[in-house]
Amino acid sequence: NLSAIPLAVRTTCPYCGVGCGVQATPLPDGSIAIAGDASHGANAGRLCVKGSALGETLGLDGRLLHPQLREGGALRRASWDEALDKVAGGWRDIIAEHGPDAVALYVSGQLLTEDYYIANKLMKGYIGSANIDTNSRLCMSSAVAGHKRAFGADLVPGCYEDLELADMVVLVGSNTAWCHPILFQRIVRAKEARPQMKLVVIDPRRTATCESADLHLPVKLGTDVWLFNGLLCYLAQHGVVDAGFVAAHTNGFDEALAAAHVDCADPLAVARACRVDPRDVLDFYAMFAATAKVVTAFSQGVNQSSAGTDKVNSIINCHLATGRIGRPGMGPFSLTGQPNAMGGREVGGLANMLAAHMELDRAVHRDTVQTFWDSPRIADRPGLKAVELFQAIEDGRIKAVWIIATNPLVSMPDANQVQRALEKCQLVVVSDIVEKTDTNAYADVLLPALGWGEKDGTVTNSERRIARQRGFLAAPGEARADWLALCQVARRMGFAGFDFAGVHEVFDEHARLSGYRNDAQGSPRVFNIAALAGMDRRRYDQLEPLQWPLRADPAGAVEGTPRLFGDGRYAHADGRARCVATAPRAPAHLPDADYPLALNTGRVRDQWHTMTRTGKSARLADHVPEAFVDMHPQDALLCGVREGELARVSTQWGAMVARVQHGGGIARGAVFVPIHWSGQTASDARVGALVNPAVDPVSGEPEFKHTPVRVEQF
Ligand code: SF4
Repeated sequence: NLSAIPLAVRTTCPYCGVGCGVQATPLPDGSIAIAGDASHGANAGRLCVKGSALGETLGLDGRLLHPQLREGGALRRASWDEALDKVAGGWRDIIAEHGPDAVALYVSGQLLTEDYYIANKLMKGYIGSANIDTNSRLCMSSAVAGHKRAFGADLVPGCYEDLELADMVVLVGSNTAWCHPILFQRIVRAKEARPQMKLVVIDPRRTATCESADLHLPVKLGTDVWLFNGLLCYLAQHGVVDAGFVAAHTNGFDEALAAAHVDCADPLAVARACRVDPRDVLDFYAMFAATAKVVTAFSQGVNQSSAGTDKVNSIINCHLATGRIGRPGMGPFSLTGQPNAMGGREVGGLANMLAAHMELDRAVHRDTVQTFWDSPRIADRPGLKAVELFQAIEDGRIKAVWIIATNPLVSMPDANQVQRALEKCQLVVVSDIVEKTDTNAYADVLLPALGWGEKDGTVTNSERRIARQRGFLAAPGEARADWLALCQVARRMGFAGFDFAGVHEVFDEHARLSGYRNDAQGSPRVFNIAALAGMDRRRYDQLEPLQWPLRADPAGAVEGTPRLFGDGRYAHADGRARCVATAPRAPAHLPDADYPLALNTGRVRDQWHTMTRTGKSARLADHVPEAFVDMHPQDALLCGVREGELARVSTQWGAMVARVQHGGGIARGAVFVPIHWSGQTASDARVGALVNPAVDPVSGEPEFKHTPVRVEQF
């Protein structure tokens, strides 16, 4: 009886940016069997502990199942019609009285591309404001800004295979073993097969990733530009610069080198600034100089900084200087944190971007998008980035915000400011799968969303690979897809252009826009997935993972592109890449007598974000059961706290209580606190409340890795 055999659904893991393929099989007892998808290029059948526990996170306890409206201070159940009328009516009135910039969307790298596309279309093309930003601002916007400065567009040059083909992999500001485990396993396996392959880890902490490293440089927090500017000088001093490549394909090399020379020409000075052994710095520089096939992969330790964009460009400069880019086993590589940070970038989900990788500040791009959408208006200047957006809510410039699939009261820096902002906001709408979160406590309207396993759409992983996330569970209660709720509000506001028969039609429009006025004449845009336009529901459901840009052969078969820039052409108008002059600078706030240590934040292996899903799995919770502050034993002694005891951890922005621990490889002068715990747990352990709200001036990404902090007895 073939009908009795459970059918596996091929989908994508909803956690990190590796974007592993998953096979989910609904079993007769109602449980879901989870396995890796052997045919998926990212993971070839493997899953990490988080991915393999997905089946344990699908229970409906705690789910938001019906719309709710606040009345007389309390939330009550409401119909979708009531809730949507409240949102559309509220936004219409506020826009009529205060203009389009008085409303805002704050969305998430957890959204599927189709959700993101509709949110961006509504805000920029119909409301006419660019006040839509995303929690991806908090994790990879410095990489976006660095790519745009260097390459002319937000383009990741390489692919995962390059990390296996390289003779040297440099991991910067990335605990890859815990945060991108399957990709790390690929690196480790490649190294086992070719023991001569070198792994260098640059991280202030001695993390699990360092266990496989040939060299670990425990640089002082925030000194990456010193290290990579020093490397650029070393490459020039030792004749390793590829003068032919630099002359043929780049601008700005001499200026970048001159800027690096000011402080970083002497490796001893670099070692002193980075507080590492000079011999290790020289070993790293010599290894990099001697190895043609190098990949430098970087993540939040680079991006989450008030100098994040310069850090990214100081890395890219070294690859451009040596021509090590666009070829197998070479290149700078941005590791994205979230499952769809890349998809959000493709549809313009950031306040300073337009759809299909077009630019808000280019009239020709604004005209292209508005004409394609046939929309009544188009935003003509960048909107407010995440930190500014919540500041504008607090000071009353923004009067209505719709928060989708994110929990800013936990995850934003200076999270108490977000609380003050939402308390003052005239209309707070939250779409979520969870009923009770720190943010939902301030909602005037709660909209129940679909979760993983229920929703349908596409995501793009760190190597530009678009893949389907497929639903295999019925929508619980009255939960709806986010793209649909956004369309329903748009239609109630009187906007045409939001009639889609299904999510496949949203994707089709997105694909067509990427090809619209994007011919080979002049300077074609690199992001192009028009080869997927015109798919009906059946073909959309059968879509196989593909790396953009895409092209169709004469027979209609669609091919992806593993690597960019192999032809030496970049996306700047003149086709040349840019080396960007960068100068090292200190973090925005330095430790002082009151706050003598530096707070660093990050993930633990088995939890995801604010634990609303991974927190449901007992075996995942077992790994780290509660929030902690990890610090060097000597610093603990000076602070009068002991391992295993609770301590008060405070900054000038907020405070929390956490248990002291050692053993996380922390250097003197720094402490580490994980990001996952919230005010919903036993104690208010929102580390976001402690983090300073300083941002990078180019990208707007906050400085999560460096806040002056005090630890004392509780
Ligand atoms: Fe999911 Fe990332 Fe683990 Fe892959 S590596 S299974 S995408 S959490």
